Amino acid sequence: MGRRRGEWPADPEPLPGPVIDNHTHLESIPDVLDDGVPDPGVLAQLERAAAVGVDAVVQIGCDLDAAEVSVRWAHEHTQIVAGVAIHPNEAVLHAGVREIAPDGLEPDPLPRHVISLDDAIGRVAELARDPRVRTVGETGLDFFRAGERGRAAQRESFRAHIALAKELGLPMQIHDRDAHADVLEVLEADGAPEVTVFHCFSGDAEMAAVCAARGYYLSFAGPVTFGSADVVRDAAAVVPGSQLLVETDAPYLTPAPHRGAPNAPYLLPLTVRRLAEVRGDDLRALCETLHANASRLYGPW
Ligand SMILES: [Zn+2]
Repeated sequence: MGRRRGEWPADPEPLPGPVIDNHTHLESIPDVLDDGVPDPGVLAQLERAAAVGVDAVVQIGCDLDAAEVSVRWAHEHTQIVAGVAIHPNEAVLHAGVREIAPDGLEPDPLPRHVISLDDAIGRVAELARDPRVRTVGETGLDFFRAGERGRAAQRESFRAHIALAKELGLPMQIHDRDAHADVLEVLEADGAPEVTVFHCFSGDAEMAAVCAARGYYLSFAGPVTFGSADVVRDAAAVVPGSQLLVETDAPYLTPAPHRGAPNAPYLLPLTVRRLAEVRGDDLRALCETLHANASRLYGPW
């Protein structure tokens, strides 16, 4: 969008009470790892977030490299707890599937992908036993780019992560892109973990009602603020407060009016404010609810 890398939006108005970012990828934020000295970058992001009311984050490492970094950071920073998993798109690469994607690009495998899917999930299972890991995720199905063989690999990986979350008694965070019916079907067939969270919920109000009735949690991200996203706003309006979470999914899905700039946890207040409007909630009360929900699921930090 013509914006210079590293040019960050101004801080939003601070929230009236603290909230927790349910899902972020600090290692992918520009400037955090670019200089090869990750920790000052992470600290700067955490401090900037805290100044506007985002006092803690769930750092999601969903490839093998990011998972290792996430666990380390969760030990080094009291504001961070970690989630680990093999992302559905990573599962395709670990499984050695070389399908041509609908956008015409053949996946470009990284060195870590010489590790088989079984071995990759085995490493996640080891990391998930760390006491600073509080969720298995993100896992699920992403049918946007996957062909038939890729989808089969994703399904196998998803089911292994469901089993892992249940074995360890951890919450699970789900990535669902263009795969709503299949995700719900796998959860029903295998039995969902006691705490199941849809990260960046993208379904409609009808699906939100189904998820809520099944006891799942729904986490809303930047799209709540997008002009075209009435479907997501309608979904957000029907979720019981006790099953509601909020997240950045940084560096992706930057909330309006800053689309085109990188996202980071300090921009979460823009999404929280819009969520309060959409739901007709008092902003301070919504912050209290969101903080209580995340603390109950993943805490103590
Ligand atoms: Zn994510």
